[in-house]
Formats: sequence, C-alpha cells, structure tokens
Amino acid sequence: MDTLFDSDTALTWVRAIAAAIERDADHLTQLDSAIGDADHGINMRRGFDAVLAALDGPDFGTPGEVLVKTGTTLMSTVGGAAGPLYGSAFRAAGKQLTTPDVTADRLLAGLRAGAEALQRLGVARPGDKTMIDAYLPAVDAFAKATEGGSTLAETASAAADAAEEGMHATIPMIARKGRASYLGPRSEGHQDPGATSMALVFRALAQAVRP
Ligand code: ADP
Ligand code: MG
Repeated sequence: MDTLFDSDTALTWVRAIAAAIERDADHLTQLDSAIGDADHGINMRRGFDAVLAALDGPDFGTPGEVLVKTGTTLMSTVGGAAGPLYGSAFRAAGKQLTTPDVTADRLLAGLRAGAEALQRLGVARPGDKTMIDAYLPAVDAFAKATEGGSTLAETASAAADAAEEGMHATIPMIARKGRASYLGPRSEGHQDPGATSMALVFRALAQAVRP
C-alpha cells in the first residue's frame, strides 16, 4: 500500500525546516553576503519563527491547511524576495492537498503547483542561479522515483539528493534574477543562498517521511 502524507507529517516537515534554518541561518546569510545583501538567513529565520508560532495551537484537518498557513505566514512576515516566493510556493502546494491523507502522487502534484507559483511570481528559469535550480531537479527526481514505484521515504530522499546537487550546480552560474544579478559575471563562483535554503526544505521533507 502507498504511504500516505497527513497533517502530522506536514507539521513534522515544516518544523524540521524551521530547525534546519535555525541551524544554518548564519551560513545562509554568509552566502547572501557574497552575492546579495546579507539577509537571507535572517529573513528565513524570522519567517520560520513566525510559522512555528502560527502552527502552534490550531488543529489542522489536512496537510494542505498546514502548508497554506505556512505560506501565508511567510508572505506576511518575510521581507525580501524569498518570503513571497516561498510563501506562494507553500500556498499553491497546500491548495492541492485537500484530503486528510494524501498519496505520493498527490504530494507530487502539490510540489509541481508550488514550482509553477514560484516561477509565475519570480519569472526565473533554470540556470538563472535561484532557488528554482534546486526546486526543479528535486521535483523531477520526486516524479521519477514515484513513477518507478519507490516508497515515499525513498522518493523524498531522492528529491533531497537532487536538490543538493542543484544547489551545488548554482556555483558556476551567473545570476540573472534577484539582487545577485546586479553583480553580473562577478556572481560566478558563489553558491546561491536561495537554492541552499531550498535544499534544506527537501532534506527536511525526507526526514519527515522517514518511517
Ligand atoms: P533579497 O534578495 O530580497 O535580499 P533573500 O536574500 O531573502 O531576498 O533571498 C535571496 C534569494 O532569493 C536568492 O538567492 C534567490 O535564490 C532567490 N530569488 C531572488 N529573486 C528570485 C526570482 N526572481 N525567482 C526565484 N528566486 C529568486
Ligand atoms: Mg538578501
């Protein structure tokens, strides 16, 4: 039988993201100081602190409700590009997960909707040196693993590996979106902060669905 993803799993996922952001906030800010304005870790920490508070209390009937609340909170608390981008992705993903238990296929549909929302808002394409360069490979790996009959744990773990590969692949890229694009060729040789936080998001998912 297919492994299901419920509101408790979604809560575990989002709390694991918050913990990873907390742990790596200084690193994210350091990466952003090389090619941006040195606030990515600060932005993400502020956002996920608020998310933890927002998730503490209400009862969530579906995983989608958890993700929509996460996205709405990120949008209203994070300044900078990453807040609205992550916020719209979580909201769009959540809107696909409207039953108490969702299958890996449904979760994939949510991840795809999140990527579409992020791209609609940010208009970034693969290779532009953004969080998209971690997100899209992760979604592709997720799709491939699900179609190949992997368990949800194996699938999420493959997605996290692909996100980390995508994160590393941003190093030689020249930024064409966001603040880093102001540097032009001087953005080359630096890992993108948003792709780095996105890799944390997928690693946290892999942890959350581990049996
Ligand atoms: P800001 O750039 O406003 O200071 P952050 O530092 O929090 O915001 O986030 C920077 C990250 O946001 C970048 O590393 C990049 O991954 C991502 N980003 C910026 N602009 C875009 C965009 N148009 N589309 C997708 N991602 C983007
Ligand atoms: Mg910044």
